[in-house]
Amino acid sequence: MARSPKTSDEDRPGSRNIGALRALWPFIAPYRGIMTLAISALVFTACVSLVLPLAVRRVVDNFEVDAGMLLDRYFAAALVIAGLLALGTAARYYLVTRLGERVVTDIRKALFGRMVGMSPAFYERIMTGEVLSRITTDTTLILSVIGSSASIALRNLLILIGGLALLMLTSAKLTGLVLLIVPAIIVPIVVLGRRLRVLSRENQDWIAASSGNASETLLSVQTVQAYSHEARSKERFDEITEKSFVAARERIGTRAVMTAIVIFLIFAGIVGVLWIGARDVNAREMSIGALVQFVIYAVMVAGSVGALTEIWGELQRAAGATERLVELLNAEDSLREPSAPRPVPEARGEIVFDDVSFSYPSRPDVSALDHVSVTIAPGETVALVGPSGAGKTTMIQLLLRFWDPKTGRVTLDGTDLRDMARSDFRCRMALVPQDPVIFADTARENIRFGRPDATDAEVEAAAHAAAAHEFLMALPDGYDSQVGERGVMLSGGQKQRIAIARAILRDAPVLLLDEATSALDAESERLVQRAVDRLATGRTTLIVAHRLATVKKADRILVFEAGRIVAQGSHDALVAEGGLYARLARLQFTDGMIEAAE
Ligand code: ADP
Repeated sequence: MARSPKTSDEDRPGSRNIGALRALWPFIAPYRGIMTLAISALVFTACVSLVLPLAVRRVVDNFEVDAGMLLDRYFAAALVIAGLLALGTAARYYLVTRLGERVVTDIRKALFGRMVGMSPAFYERIMTGEVLSRITTDTTLILSVIGSSASIALRNLLILIGGLALLMLTSAKLTGLVLLIVPAIIVPIVVLGRRLRVLSRENQDWIAASSGNASETLLSVQTVQAYSHEARSKERFDEITEKSFVAARERIGTRAVMTAIVIFLIFAGIVGVLWIGARDVNAREMSIGALVQFVIYAVMVAGSVGALTEIWGELQRAAGATERLVELLNAEDSLREPSAPRPVPEARGEIVFDDVSFSYPSRPDVSALDHVSVTIAPGETVALVGPSGAGKTTMIQLLLRFWDPKTGRVTLDGTDLRDMARSDFRCRMALVPQDPVIFADTARENIRFGRPDATDAEVEAAAHAAAAHEFLMALPDGYDSQVGERGVMLSGGQKQRIAIARAILRDAPVLLLDEATSALDAESERLVQRAVDRLATGRTTLIVAHRLATVKKADRILVFEAGRIVAQGSHDALVAEGGLYARLARLQFTDGMIEAAE
């Protein structure tokens, strides 16, 4: 079933209005200079527009009295005003739009920077596609606010206030009548506006949910197709996407109703006031010029109120989006960096698990590791074996500090991982995951990922050592061939050798290897094995082992069962013991059959 996004207002106290937009201030503050200029341009154009009707009145009232010089001067002045208005508007547009783009670029960068460092616990709660949607579509809404809506709002507010003041000067009596209508206009704006914000957030949440769903499906499109699951996947996507449409439709409907009510009230008011004004002119209590001036101001004021209601809707939308972005930006990482990180000691590669217990937050009742204590000497090669789900991968994950142990501690060369900066101790480790990760880039850059400052010669030396040089040279552009998204152009064994070359290049004292379970052909297997052997030499190596050949070569074997180390020792000793290991050796290892047949 589609996950229902959280949209209720109740779980977010204190965020019921556009106050959420305040959170954008830290991003705008650095550009205060540009903002001041933009606001100046804006105030200037608003003032000029307000002055214009005064000139019109003069022209109208003096039309018959003195047609000569004065009239020419008024028209010349009008031309100058038009020029100033044009310049001011262009300046405002440039400054404000630029500011919006700048701020949104900064927000996107900040968001990505935050997201790329979040620990796995965070990504258990949110889909990556959802995060992407926040970074792209939610920020677009904010762009519309900073890049236009806010300035239009300010401009209209100025016109509203200035217009009302000038109306008052023109005819206090008529203005008083106009003001009677104002409360009637504000009530629907406020009431419907609140509803708009909730609907807008709901709309954005469904869009994010549909992106999450789409990216998950498309990332595994081959499996989807192999199981002829396209129709079902499409149905699910359609369902979620339709929900975002329904939320959008409701939002648009609400806004349309709001606009209708407001426009009708405004114009009904103007018509009523004009009717009274026309009678005053008839009775010679008011000049025609004054009435014309009044009408122009009244239309300006009415227009600004109309624009403000529209923008109120926009601001509500952006407030909804901002809320979610701020949640992401402020998301607490469950792994804290130490405030004063200790320097990573001289690298030897000694690893200690000291009475470590751990369970995943999503399954707190299952102990993934249960009081594990083990010391691994520098340079030692240790094979982790045991049935699936026994805790082998978890041990590797704790060693990389993707999670913190619930009790006990993990140390590298005598220092608790929690006391060092993550990036500091992680650069002492090289990971070769079971399913090697290849990026959509050239083969060369994929290897260089291990150490970004490596020279081409070093990259090639690593590829040689990983037995990857030959097949890389056979690619159309050699090392500079693009390998496709997630390395689609490479075979499983080739991807593994690139991952190994990457780890060789990293040249870290600790090597973490999750052996591939997929059966490679004998030749690839031999090449990969040779590369691994070369890589492991002289380094502390932890291998989640699936092959008998690997465990036999290890200095020590740790046998895991249900989160505990139940036995350890050499292959021969453990077989002689005849426990779980002997059974595994017979049944589990992928090359066990061959071995047994030999
Ligand atoms: P192994 O690598 O030995 O196959 P793992 O270390 O992956 O085993 O898993 C140990 C236990 O933790 C298993 O019970 C597994 O179901 C559970 N587990 C692994 N990863 C997660 C996770 N991200 N969330 C919840 N439980 C997990």
